[in-house]
Amino acid sequence: MNPEARKEALRHFHTRVVEALGYKFTPDEELADFLLEQEVKLEAEHGAPYCPCQGRTEERAADMRIVCPCIPYHRRHFDAMRRCWCGLFVHQDVDDPDSLPQIPVDQIPGE
Ligand code: SF4
Repeated sequence: MNPEARKEALRHFHTRVVEALGYKFTPDEELADFLLEQEVKLEAEHGAPYCPCQGRTEERAADMRIVCPCIPYHRRHFDAMRRCWCGLFVHQDVDDPDSLPQIPVDQIPGE
């Protein structure tokens, strides 16, 4: 599958998964496009659409927690930020993704 087609396939698949979790793609189309492109490259090189913003450890169990969309594994953290770590997904009511900063997990109350 060519990279453009794979990107669209991932977009379709991700939409179905994240909608059920209360998220949507960021309205920042340029960012979404860039991150999906990175995922397609990571998948081609490493076998799965790993997160473009989180480092792999080469330890399978840990790395499976950063295959996109990784929201279920980081639910409290991402719900507190109202976005995922990369910003590819935001809560469904978010219109201004730039207003949502990344917050390290150790600064999230209760984490
Ligand atoms: S942080 Fe966002 S883009 Fe990265 S793997 Fe998780 S859900 Fe995907």
